Amino acid sequence: MTTIYENFIQENPDFAGTKRYCNVCGFRFAKFKSFGLKPREAMCPICGSLERQRHLYIHLLSIFPFVQNKNILHFAPEKCFRSLFEQSSAKYFDCDINPRKASYQVDITDIQYDNDFFDYIICIHVLEHIVDDIRAMRELHRTLKPGGTAFLCVPLFPQLYENYSIVAPEEREKAFGQKDHVRGYSLEAFCERLQQVGFSITISKVQNFPDSFRQEVLMGGTIVVGRK
Ligand SMILES: [Zn+2]
Repeated sequence: MTTIYENFIQENPDFAGTKRYCNVCGFRFAKFKSFGLKPREAMCPICGSLERQRHLYIHLLSIFPFVQNKNILHFAPEKCFRSLFEQSSAKYFDCDINPRKASYQVDITDIQYDNDFFDYIICIHVLEHIVDDIRAMRELHRTLKPGGTAFLCVPLFPQLYENYSIVAPEEREKAFGQKDHVRGYSLEAFCERLQQVGFSITISKVQNFPDSFRQEVLMGGTIVVGRK
């Protein structure tokens, strides 16, 4: 990792500095890279983490002392967490509907594992792509062990916005913010649906963390912690 950093700094001298800290890979920079359509600081130039992943990482660190031999299901696995999971003694199931993107092919609306199988589930920015999201949430709840924890996150809108007549990618982008999103959730609607399928939930907001740390690490997103 050090070599990657050194190479990067040689190629991008502006990044040398200490204003930003990536808590996932541990490196300091003048600023994060821009990401997405609007130029904004967001992405760690070394590990590729975004605001929501740096937020999630704090939760992952809190569970890591306890993951030995635990079953962890990780949808649409973020590359920046790969080494953390692979170096742990957890039984790690990185999965995606697209078999080229992960080790296990899993359809979130029809998960091929037994009831009460997973100790932890990580599902970040997935459910906004799923038309039958209630069915997917039921599957997440079914396969989670009693006492298990699911980390769930979606892009949030002020109001729930669903309209299944919008199918053209450009129209979806206009309506829901991305070409392959099928809805925009409000936090209330997202939590309500999770509770409807049986999760008890707590909400992790970045405002819960100290300002100085939040700004240095540039955390974002709201993570819903679902328990069974
Ligand atoms: Zn990083």
